[in-house]
Amino acid sequence: MTGLSDSFNRPINYLRISVTDRCNLRCIYCLPAEGARLRPHSEILTYEEITTIARLAAELGIDKLRLTGGEPLVRAKLTELVAMLTKIDTIDDISITTNGALLKHYAHELKQAGLRRVNISLDSLKQDKFELITRRDMLKEVLQGIDAAKAAGLDPVKINMVVMHGINDDEIVDFANLTIAEGWHVRFIELMPFTTDNPPEGHSTWGKASTHSRFMSVYEIKERLSRLGKLKPCPPITGNGPAKYFRLPQATGTIGFINPISQHFCFNCNRLRLTAEGKLRPCLLSDKETDLRQPLRDGATPEKLRQIITEAVRTKPKQHHLFQGSIPKKRLMSQVGG
Ligand code: SAM
Repeated sequence: MTGLSDSFNRPINYLRISVTDRCNLRCIYCLPAEGARLRPHSEILTYEEITTIARLAAELGIDKLRLTGGEPLVRAKLTELVAMLTKIDTIDDISITTNGALLKHYAHELKQAGLRRVNISLDSLKQDKFELITRRDMLKEVLQGIDAAKAAGLDPVKINMVVMHGINDDEIVDFANLTIAEGWHVRFIELMPFTTDNPPEGHSTWGKASTHSRFMSVYEIKERLSRLGKLKPCPPITGNGPAKYFRLPQATGTIGFINPISQHFCFNCNRLRLTAEGKLRPCLLSDKETDLRQPLRDGATPEKLRQIITEAVRTKPKQHHLFQGSIPKKRLMSQVGG
C-alpha cells in the first residue's frame, strides 16, 4: 500500500460512499419537505461499480469505508454490497450511517455479511419532536432498529444527534442519561449550514428556522450537561474520527462531541466522499467534485482511474470556508451523505 495523501500532507484513508440519493425521512436540516430531485437509476453507480472504485481506492491506501445515503437501507440488497466490499483484503473497517427506520429488517443479515458497526441518526426521543424534525412518523421503527442492531451484535452502535437550539436542545440531558441507563454511545453534532437555507433551484428552504438561528455549539451543549456530573475524557470506542469522547460518572456508554463549526477539525481530515452518481468529493463543505463514473463506464484502465482518484484528493481544500460565507450550494446534505 502506497498511502494516499492530499496536497497538505494529510493522509487520506477513509472513503464515505453514498449509495443512494433517496431517503425515507425528510429531516428539516437536510432535505426540503418535497424531497430532493432524484437522479434516474441509470445515473447511480451499480454495486459492481462501487466495488471497483472501492478496490482502486484501497489499492491507493483507503482502509476504512462507510456507507451512507440518502438512506443507505432504502437501496435494494445493500447487504450484497457489504458482502462485496468485505472481500477487499486491505479494507479493515466497514460501517454504515443510517436513520435506523429499516434497520430491524436488515441488522442481522448486515452483520452476517461482514458489517461490524453502525451509526444511527436520531435527533429526538419524543414522538411529536421526531415528526417535526423528520417530517415522518417513524420513531418507533428507529428505536426498534437500535435494539435490532444491538441484538445482531453490531458493535458499537453509536447514536448521532444533531442539536438544534429551540427544537431538540431540551433533550440533550435525556440523551446523555441514556449513556448511564442503557449504555448508549451518544454523539452530539453541531448543525452545519448547508443548502437547506439556500437550496438549489426548485427546492424549498426550512423557512424561518434557519441554520444560523438554530445553531448550538458544543460548548453550550457541555454546559447543559454540567448538572449531570463531571465529564471524564476517555479514548474513542472505535476509529480515530473527529469526535472527542467522555463518560459521565456511572455510565457504561460514552458521550462524543463533533464540532465542525465551533472548532473545526479540517487539519486532521482523512476523508474522501463518493456520491451516489460517482463524483468524488474531497471536502463535505466544498462543492469541488471530480467525475469518476464516466471514465469508469468508458472503460478507463485501472491505472487511469487510480490517477483520477489521486488527483481528486490533491484538490482537497485546506479547510472549509464557512466563516467566509462559502456554503456548499450544489447539493443537499442528503446528496452527499454527511
Ligand atoms: N440517512 C442516513 C442517516 O440519517 O444517518 C445517512 C445520510 S445523513 C445525510 C448522514 C448524517 O448527516 C445524519 O447523521 C444527519 O443527521 C447528518 N446531517 C445532515 N444534515 C446535517 C446538517 N445540516 N448539519 C449536521 N449534520 C447533518
